[in-house]
Amino acid sequence: MDSYPRDPDFGAPPPSWEDPDDAWPVPPGRRPVPPPPDGRGPARRAPRRPPPPLPAGRTPPGPPGFPGAWPPQAQRPLAPDVGLPRLPRPAPSDSVAPRPAPGVAQPPPWATGAPMDPLAPRLSAGPPSNGGPAFGYPGGRRLSGRPLPPVPRQSRLLALLFRYRPSSHAQALTTGLLIGVLWWFAVSLTLMPLLHGRAPLWSVTAVGDRLPSLLAVVLLSSLAGLLFQEAAVRHLIGEQSSRTGAVPDPAPPRVRVVILGGGFGGVAVAQRLERLLPRVPSMDVTIVSQSNALLFTPMLAEVASRSLEPNHVGVPVRAACPRTRFRLAEVDRIDTDEQLVHLRASGPSTTEALPYDHLVLALGTVPNYLDLPGVRANSVPLKTIADAITLRNHVIARLEQADVAQDPLERRRQLTFVVAGGGFAGVEIIAGLCDLVRGVRRYFPSVVDEAEFVLVHGRDRILPETEPELGDYALRKLRHRGVHCLLETRVASATADAVALSDGSQLPTRTLVWAAGNHPSRVIASLPFEHNAAGAVVADASLRLAGTSNVWAVGDCAEIPDAAGGGRPCPPTAQHAVRQAKALADNLVRVLEGRRSKPFSFRTTGFLATVGHHSAVADIRGRCFSGILAWLMWRGIYLSKLPGVERRLRVLLDWAVEPFFGRDIALTSPDPAAPGPHGRTAMRRSSPR
Ligand SMILES: Cc1cc2nc3c(=O)[nH]c(=O)nc-3n(C[C@H](O)[C@H](O)[C@H](O)COP(=O)(O)OP(=O)(O)OC[C@H]3O[C@@H](n4cnc5c(N)ncnc54)[C@H](O)[C@@H]3O)c2cc1C
Repeated sequence: MDSYPRDPDFGAPPPSWEDPDDAWPVPPGRRPVPPPPDGRGPARRAPRRPPPPLPAGRTPPGPPGFPGAWPPQAQRPLAPDVGLPRLPRPAPSDSVAPRPAPGVAQPPPWATGAPMDPLAPRLSAGPPSNGGPAFGYPGGRRLSGRPLPPVPRQSRLLALLFRYRPSSHAQALTTGLLIGVLWWFAVSLTLMPLLHGRAPLWSVTAVGDRLPSLLAVVLLSSLAGLLFQEAAVRHLIGEQSSRTGAVPDPAPPRVRVVILGGGFGGVAVAQRLERLLPRVPSMDVTIVSQSNALLFTPMLAEVASRSLEPNHVGVPVRAACPRTRFRLAEVDRIDTDEQLVHLRASGPSTTEALPYDHLVLALGTVPNYLDLPGVRANSVPLKTIADAITLRNHVIARLEQADVAQDPLERRRQLTFVVAGGGFAGVEIIAGLCDLVRGVRRYFPSVVDEAEFVLVHGRDRILPETEPELGDYALRKLRHRGVHCLLETRVASATADAVALSDGSQLPTRTLVWAAGNHPSRVIASLPFEHNAAGAVVADASLRLAGTSNVWAVGDCAEIPDAAGGGRPCPPTAQHAVRQAKALADNLVRVLEGRRSKPFSFRTTGFLATVGHHSAVADIRGRCFSGILAWLMWRGIYLSKLPGVERRLRVLLDWAVEPFFGRDIALTSPDPAAPGPHGRTAMRRSSPR
């Protein structure tokens, strides 16, 4: 995930990408976990009851919607902590199990009768993770129909050079090619002449003379790369162990790692775990997400303003993490006692249960409408690709309606665009809408000049997380372009026809974009762990939730202290989510190896935000940039952070084509604000709650 937005090297570190007034309240105000009956501490929960004995010959019932899949798990003698009171829990231990001596197969604790750490994750017995039934017992249901290839036992160097993946032939080929070219340069052009007492052949003529040999080297080394990956990495190492008479280790118990959420955090955890698989081959990683693509949110406003095509800013999770199982489903609830995630996959009434040994929460946030009357029903957020599509269609539909509207008030409503929230997201959206409407003037010459753009913001300056000079620049720029920036004003309520403001005024409008706050979803809020005032779960510096040994959290849904920031909570940005994800995966693997975890620490590098019309603001390591230079930086940096060459090319093409052909105005869905069955509330249906 190094190639993610604003992430690693440049990024957006503000406390919030929404209106910071309403968004992520920075603690200390934490919602306390309800005290336990005996008052022993917030992490206490009721002791687990052992399952009731079953009549002979009967299998226990499975969870709803998942017949037959579960019983073996419930019956297996693999959970000696069933029946143990889970609490009081000791402080989470980093070393959940003593590290086994290398090469010595360790029997599971339940087989030896050794006392088991009640905090240790329950491991499932059964066949190796990949290629066997998903839950490790006969009849277990696969989560993904895609069989995963076996994990080769690799040395670290081999793993680094030829990271094995089913689709990594291109990588093996290019690695071989690179090694060949380096060898040609070092040996043929440098070493051999030196050995013969001559100067290295580095002149253009000498290199030109040896081009045929370079071609041969390129061909041979690429081929060797491929062969080496297939033969050496997959087979030779296995043969070696049988030649020396070593008995292959028995399959270790599988460790089921379930990642909830396929956004920046979740995908980055999976990618890092894939890289670390050779260290713990028994890991079986599954991502559950209600969207099958990782959305590159920094470019979402460009999608909404029709600068980019929607599918160019999403990367399929299956492509991003090919060695991870993927499950398209909505997480309904999490049972931390039984270590089950209940999923809703194929309809509101069908649920399935997915067991885990380690759980990673990466569910992000959902819009927070602050219970303002009518706002949820009459606004559109910008969180998902569907939101962006809704918005881009909605704006063009408003221009179409305004073009034929006879009533001046109705025409004004159609042409007034209101955005709530002057944080980064709000500023980028209002700037993008302005660009969109003005950019289609040739199709709507009679209405575009009447369009009004209003930014409603609760504080006294926009982009309050940045240096004041950048906020001031953005404000000047927006006002210069005709955007009404209403500072120290809030949205009070909304109807289908108007938005009421805190100063008592009414804005006749049919467009309200909500960028004034997010909070974690109800799935996160309902977990029996400590939460902060915004409802985010509180993790410790190793990214584990307090009082648990196997529940981890990453990204916007969690409050995570940053050691580099003096323990202050990280801001909710993609930059931080990706960094946290890497640290989390490293810690999870360390824990599985019986080693100590490390605290998360990351120094924020900066932020960038567009303010429309080829201008942006940027703060890179304390240095401020604005105008077209910042805009070029924004485009260059985000293009480089977009995952995958293909996506980068597509985005580059979109940007290259736009100046020549303008923005497209084709409507790709029915007008959501038109009267009829689709109705106005269809505007916001896409974002998760
Ligand atoms: C318009 C906009 C612009 C932004 N610009 C920037 C920027 O320029 N730089 C930057 O650093 N940050 C930016 N951010 C913030 C950044 O997107 C977030 O900080 C980042 O996405 C957080 O990552 P995450 O993994 O925690 O959550 P997300 O990336 O939001 O991922 C959450 C995932 O969980 C899934 N999910 C949620 N609920 C459920 C459920 N019940 N069941 C199943 N799946 C579920 C979602 O579908 C999603 O795939 C921007 C955000 C927005 C909205």
